[in-house]
Amino acid sequence: MEKITSLAKRRGFVYQSSEIYGGQNGAWDYGPLGVELKNRIAGAWWKEMTRLHDNIVGLDAAILMHPRTWEASGHVENFTDPLVDCKKCKSRFRADQIPQENLAAKKCPDCGGELTDTRKFNLMFKTHIGPAEDTASIIYLRPETAQGIYVNYKNIIQSNRMKIPFGIAQIGKAFRNEIVTKNFIFRTCEFEQMEMQYFVKPGTDEEWFSEWRKQRWAYYEKLGVKMDHLRWHQHGPDELAHYAKDAYDIEYLFPMGWRELEGVHNRTDYDLGRHTQFSGKDLQYIDQDNNNERYIPYIIETSAGLTRSLLMVFCDAYDEEKVADKGNEDDWRTVLRFHPDLAPVTVAILPLMKKDGLAELAQDIRSELKEDYATDYDQAGAIGRRYRRQDEAGTPFCVTVDYQSKEDGTVTLRFRDSMEQVRVPKAELASRIRQEIKAYKRIK
Ligand code: ATP
Repeated sequence: MEKITSLAKRRGFVYQSSEIYGGQNGAWDYGPLGVELKNRIAGAWWKEMTRLHDNIVGLDAAILMHPRTWEASGHVENFTDPLVDCKKCKSRFRADQIPQENLAAKKCPDCGGELTDTRKFNLMFKTHIGPAEDTASIIYLRPETAQGIYVNYKNIIQSNRMKIPFGIAQIGKAFRNEIVTKNFIFRTCEFEQMEMQYFVKPGTDEEWFSEWRKQRWAYYEKLGVKMDHLRWHQHGPDELAHYAKDAYDIEYLFPMGWRELEGVHNRTDYDLGRHTQFSGKDLQYIDQDNNNERYIPYIIETSAGLTRSLLMVFCDAYDEEKVADKGNEDDWRTVLRFHPDLAPVTVAILPLMKKDGLAELAQDIRSELKEDYATDYDQAGAIGRRYRRQDEAGTPFCVTVDYQSKEDGTVTLRFRDSMEQVRVPKAELASRIRQEIKAYKRIK
């Protein structure tokens, strides 16, 4: 994980928040390459969930919601983690994440000091809206994006004439006052989620649950993720959330071990039932194609972390490869093997020399490619070093402009993964790159 963290910082993917003040725990900033990568992952998910499904629409709900939302959802009462402190070293732990024998003996796993009793700690960030800091002005930063979807489900049925089964997708920030935030951006207090809630008729929920499990698995396959680094974990009776009938996590083998990446949950009619009760509004679906049958839909949820997906994509892409070229037997390169659809920069244009008009020619080529692709331009240093810099940024294609380019209008197209190079007429570059992206298969 150290290598991942330091590459992410060095190349401008992720920085510590407020670093000049010593950093802010649980918060991270996404730099120039990081924001591009994050946007691409969000874009891939959005396309998959909305454009490729005729019956799923999007939503962008506010972070601040009426506080009754969180009473109805059960978060005020139940969204807690068990917390213990060490009286000696002052370390703080989640009681469910330290060895049971330490908990039973009240012994700190770090220093052996005495642990406090376990107490419940609510993870919601609470603040006040308006000038008065009293109980009437309490408001929460949403701890999940899902509730914004539930409270809008009727609006969306009405405005978009949706018929069950249908889904609502949303990407947005969520906040949790996590007790322990370690492992880089894996668990943070401010993060982003990509959630899709699928509304179905009761009785068809199990079928849709297994369908969504299939679809979410296939999505990662499509993104070129190492499939032997993914597995399912079914929640046992002790793990199931209060609202869930069945729940599976997709876990990824991160450098610190198998951890949750995404959850697929059968949330039953719990959420809409509770919002009916707390709001006093009738949230039943009226099935006009079926004698106006009324029911509260069941909800199948697919819930993935966007920032956690970025960490997954980064870890999955990270590779160190021995490249014994030019007679140097011990030459290594660090390469990020991002899927070309996710790579922050798709194509880098590199003039072999700055002089003799090569830089100008390279800039012209860049201008042409800009409309279709995220480009970078680098004219500093030896060409081999420039390739390595692009490998480290995960750029799948490099275009080198040399003296021959001036004569016959061809350029070198270099592939990140195989390091192979081919000569291509510059007029064909954009379409060749498009073909290569379509045909992309991960080779390592
Ligand atoms: P965990 O058990 O890891 O705390 P959870 O089961 O509470 O997670 P969910 O409420 O199901 O997580 O959230 C859905 C997804 O949102 C998770 O699979 C994860 O990808 C992401 N997520 C949840 N909490 C965080 C966090 N603190 N930081 C980053 N991503 C998170």
